[in-house]
Formats: sequence, structure tokens, C-alpha cells
Amino acid sequence: MTPEDLKRLDRAHVWHPFTQAQTAPDPVMIRSAKGAVLVEESGREVLDMISSWWVNLHGHSHPVVAEAIAEQARTLEHVIFAGHTHEPAIRISASLAEILPGGLNKVFFSDNGSTAVEVAMKAASQYFLNKGDVDRRRFIAFDGGYHGDTVGAMSAGVSSNFFDAWREMLFPVDILPVPTTWIGDDTIEAKEAEALTALDAHLEAHGGETVACIIEPLVQGASGMRMHRPEFLRAMVARMKAAGVLVILDEVMTGFGRMGSVFSCLEAGVEPDFICLSKGLTAGFLPMSVTVTTDAVHDAFLDDSIGRAFLHGHSFTANPLGCAAANASLELLLADECTAARKRINAFHAARLEELGRHPLVERTRLQGTIAAFDVKVLEGQGGYASSVGPKLKESFIRDGLLIRPLGNVVYLLPPYCVSDDQLTRAYEGINRALDSLSS
Ligand SMILES: *Cc1c(COP(=O)(O)O)cnc(C)c1O
Repeated sequence: MTPEDLKRLDRAHVWHPFTQAQTAPDPVMIRSAKGAVLVEESGREVLDMISSWWVNLHGHSHPVVAEAIAEQARTLEHVIFAGHTHEPAIRISASLAEILPGGLNKVFFSDNGSTAVEVAMKAASQYFLNKGDVDRRRFIAFDGGYHGDTVGAMSAGVSSNFFDAWREMLFPVDILPVPTTWIGDDTIEAKEAEALTALDAHLEAHGGETVACIIEPLVQGASGMRMHRPEFLRAMVARMKAAGVLVILDEVMTGFGRMGSVFSCLEAGVEPDFICLSKGLTAGFLPMSVTVTTDAVHDAFLDDSIGRAFLHGHSFTANPLGCAAANASLELLLADECTAARKRINAFHAARLEELGRHPLVERTRLQGTIAAFDVKVLEGQGGYASSVGPKLKESFIRDGLLIRPLGNVVYLLPPYCVSDDQLTRAYEGINRALDSLSS
């Protein structure tokens, strides 16, 4: 098929996510990809500076992960995971339990970040019912949090404002403030104190009725790479534990080295009751997720009757190809080379953000691990997704052969760990050109 045929058939038959087809430009057709580079149908190369929706870790089409999947496909492609098990799933479960903080020991598999969140919320809820505590029915989430697009995840992520069309389908979740911060923010301690006061008041009133809280630890991704300090996370988790509220960390985006440490909970030194992992789990190769919880939670489901069991599962639960990709990726992630690469990317961002911070259109530069972000100044009333700043910047990035997708007026880089200094230099040059295009 010619590229023109493909384009016509895409228009005729494909419904793309998060896209207004009437106004969106034609989607870019990608033929292949290697390392940090995507190759368009025309042969033009594009630098992937967002790890293709935050999933890629080690670069595209990484031969080690590709080979692990191919080998697994020739051996066992899938088997029902109720009443059956297999080595790839056992290996990734044991490896994750070994790396994760103490107590996180039982791994439940599903297919994507949203289902990982649903599993945590449903299991947390049933945990209290199984223990005979029927009073705990409420959930806490944090302002600006995004947890996925299924109904429970939307309910927890209601404040991200993506879900207006489904408001009446959602169940009520208590939304508490989160003290966001940036480089050189000298009001952060006051903001943290205020957020914790609000939290204390809420727990005082409703702590005994609350099942769990859910938070994207250290970085809230979809709402614009909003960052908070480990100090806040630690104080928040301590208060939840004191109130008997289960803590769910949604590390779907922040997991697998993005934050510097392998997980945010390790970076911040907190021990949640649940952790949700997806995006980087398979290095971006296959859709899979896990929800990891403690023996204490798991054991509340043990009983002679099936009614107490966790009656939840998906056709592709613990798909062996996904597990094989995850095992191969984790090995690459834990190698010294990868740790060094993440440190190098972090240092590169730090130096470039310092320069960018002096640009008249740049504010709130921020950095955590391999994620760099900043806000582009917009006039009153022009902020958020409706802003015209984002599309203008995006046009400039496309011209420059860069895959960088601003979130409203927030520009961020979240590159695969194989990215070179030269490639990062190109990205920052492109950012400067995009900023110039705004003032011209
Ligand atoms: C992407 C994301 C999700 C949802 O994951 P999907 O795989 O898109 O369903 C949930 N939580 C966070 C923090 C995410 O970034």
C-alpha cells in the first residue's frame, strides 16, 4: 500500500485517542523506530523526547527485549492465569517483590495503567469488607491527579478535568490539595503546611470512613508534570497510616527509573500498601500492568468461601510475552550502565533548565530524575488545554523533527534512557526555537 492509501484508510477507519479528528492534522505515519529515533513513512527521522507516551525505557525496538519476546512467543504465547502459572510471571513477580519496599509482596497482573488502578481501588475496598469493617467507603485523591480512563480511575482523577462528559457515572472521591513546587520556589514550606493542615482536618472528620488514598508520587504527569517534594509525600503517608487509611501509589508513570531511583517510593522512602505499575513495565513493548500489595492485604482475602476471594481478572492476565518483556527490561534497568545514563540525563536537564529559566517566556522550571518541565508564560485566561500556546509550540517541534507534546502550556522532556547528549542538545535547541516562534 502507498502512503497515500494508508492515510486514506486511516481517515476512513481509525478512531485515534484524545484526538478531535475534525481539526487535528493528519496523524504522522511511523514506519519503524530504533533507539530514540522514530522513522516516518517518508523516511524522515523524528527524535522521540517523550518515550512514546511515557512507556519506552531503553529505546525503541531494543534487541534484547525484542529477542526475549520472540523466544517466548515460540515457547508459550498465552495461558489462562486462573489455575495456571508460568515461569515468566513468577520471575517478574519475585523480582519486583525483591526491589520494592518491605511488605509489597503480592503481585496482581492486569493490562494497563487504568486497570492497575481499578484493581488497587477494588481490592482496598473489599479488604475492609472482608475484615468486617463496613464503615470505610470513601476514597481520597489529590488535586490534579490523573489515574486513567476507566470509571474508578476517572473518579479518582476527576480533578484533572478530562472527564466532564461522564460526570454522572463517577462515584464521589474526596479531593485534597497537593503542594506543587519548582526550582527556586521559596513558598513551598508554607504550601506544604497548608496542605497538611487540610489533610489533618479531613482525616479528623472522615479518616474512619476512608478506604484508601491514591496519589501519583512526586510527579503528577497528565496534569502538567506538577511536582511535589518527598517531604510532603512522607508526611502525607504517615498521616494516612495513623488514620488506618490504605495508601495507593500510582507509579504507572513514575516507576522504572523515571524518578532517578527505580521507584518513587524508594526515592522518597515511603512504604505504601499498594503500588500500581504499567507504562515502563515492559519497556514500552506490550500492554501489561501490575498492582503489588502486602501480605496483610492479600491475606484478608483468604477464606473457605469463594466470596471472600478477589473475583477480578482479565483475559490476558499475566500474558507470558508481556512478562518476558518485563523480565528482560528489568535486567537492563538494573544494570550500572542504565543507572549512569539516568544520572547523565538528570545532570544535562539541570544545566539546560538553569539557562532556560532566564528566558522571559519560561517559568517554574522543574526537574525530577529524567523528567524536565517548565511552564510557558501565558496571558490571563489563556492557560490550560484550551490555550493556543500548545499547538503553536507543537508545530515548531514537528518542523524540527522532534516528538515533544506540550500539555497545555507545559513543555516537558521525558526521553528514553538511551538518549545521547547530542540528541538532548537538539531537543533543547528545538525548545528555544519554539519559544522564539511564540514571540515572533
Ligand atoms: C497513563 C497513566 C495511567 C493510565 O494508564 P493507561 O495504561 O493509559 O490506562 C494511570 N496513572 C498514571 C499516573 C498514568 O500516567
